Amino acid sequence: MTRIVPQPGIMDIALYEGGASHLEGKTNVLKLSSNENPFGPPEAAKEAFLRAVRDLHRYPSTDHAALRHAIGEVWGLEPRRIICGVGSDEIIHFLCQAYAGPGDEVVHTEHGFAMYRISALAAGATPVEVPERERTTDVDAILAACSERTKLVFIANPNNPTGTMIGMSEIRRLAEGLPEQAILVLDGAYAEYVEGYDAGTSLIAERDNVVMTRTFSKIYGLGGLRVGWGYGPQAIIDNLNRVRGPFNLSNAALVAAEAAVRDRAWVQRCRSENARWRDWLARKLAEVGVPSDVATANFVLARFADAQEANACDEHLRSEGIIVRRVAGYKLPHCLRITVGDEASCRRVAHAIGQFK
Ligand code: PMP
Repeated sequence: MTRIVPQPGIMDIALYEGGASHLEGKTNVLKLSSNENPFGPPEAAKEAFLRAVRDLHRYPSTDHAALRHAIGEVWGLEPRRIICGVGSDEIIHFLCQAYAGPGDEVVHTEHGFAMYRISALAAGATPVEVPERERTTDVDAILAACSERTKLVFIANPNNPTGTMIGMSEIRRLAEGLPEQAILVLDGAYAEYVEGYDAGTSLIAERDNVVMTRTFSKIYGLGGLRVGWGYGPQAIIDNLNRVRGPFNLSNAALVAAEAAVRDRAWVQRCRSENARWRDWLARKLAEVGVPSDVATANFVLARFADAQEANACDEHLRSEGIIVRRVAGYKLPHCLRITVGDEASCRRVAHAIGQFK
């Protein structure tokens, strides 16, 4: 019998993102709903993508060796312990497919990234949501939610959509306290936005139950190409490769990502522009009575009096051609998540919110 797995959330995500069709035919629309890099990818990545046109008839590499070696060189990691996927979404999916099935539990935080729950359901496992304390990841609450059925524990650091971060000592305490069969997944989708980010590489070196995931969709500006990667103990990476299709990434995606990861100056520039305008935007919103939590990534979580006010502000922004993200699905109905754009975009959204207030 075919097993049809409910995947609540995917349609919601499509609607919020607007996708290409939502923006079709509209001019001057400012999309600040998907935490994309307003500067796009570095020039070298675009050039590599265009060169890939010559090989459209060729199947891509099955082992992604060139990209894994480039990532390994840049981040000081062992290439054979890296796995590449169609966005980090696919790495999350592989983890659930390989490690969680019916009767198993996948733990994530209350305001954690939606794909953890969706991928757990797709694998037939049961997602377990841990309440957050003041929107901060609560290690004790996570440990209390774990049982002999827990197979995976997902933490995004920084977290989307709250932007909060927890320190490595707390992460270590979590890894050490998990039941024996559980794997801790450190999702670093926004890692490059944090100066001096500790990715947990030393923790992974010491332990056999910690994996990290990363993406080319954020600071590298390649969301449209869908490339992400994971790093962890060899045994786990080998298992993830067993559920990976051989040709999961296209040639164009592989070569563009390789060029992007080598361009450290681009990452540096995008990080400092983002920090500057993120802090400016948070300040401007506070001045008009819209506070936000301390932001660490490339978005600001703006807080309103209640859901009604947040929705009314969203409507006003849409009428001005500005698309931000409602986060009611993350149990934050009184908030709007706003991606940090370039200077002009930040000025435009701050002005529109000022008008609303
Ligand atoms: N993790 C987090 C925390 C995210 O916010 C996102 C993107 N919204 C992802 C993973 C997935 O990103 P991608 O599949 O584009 O790599």
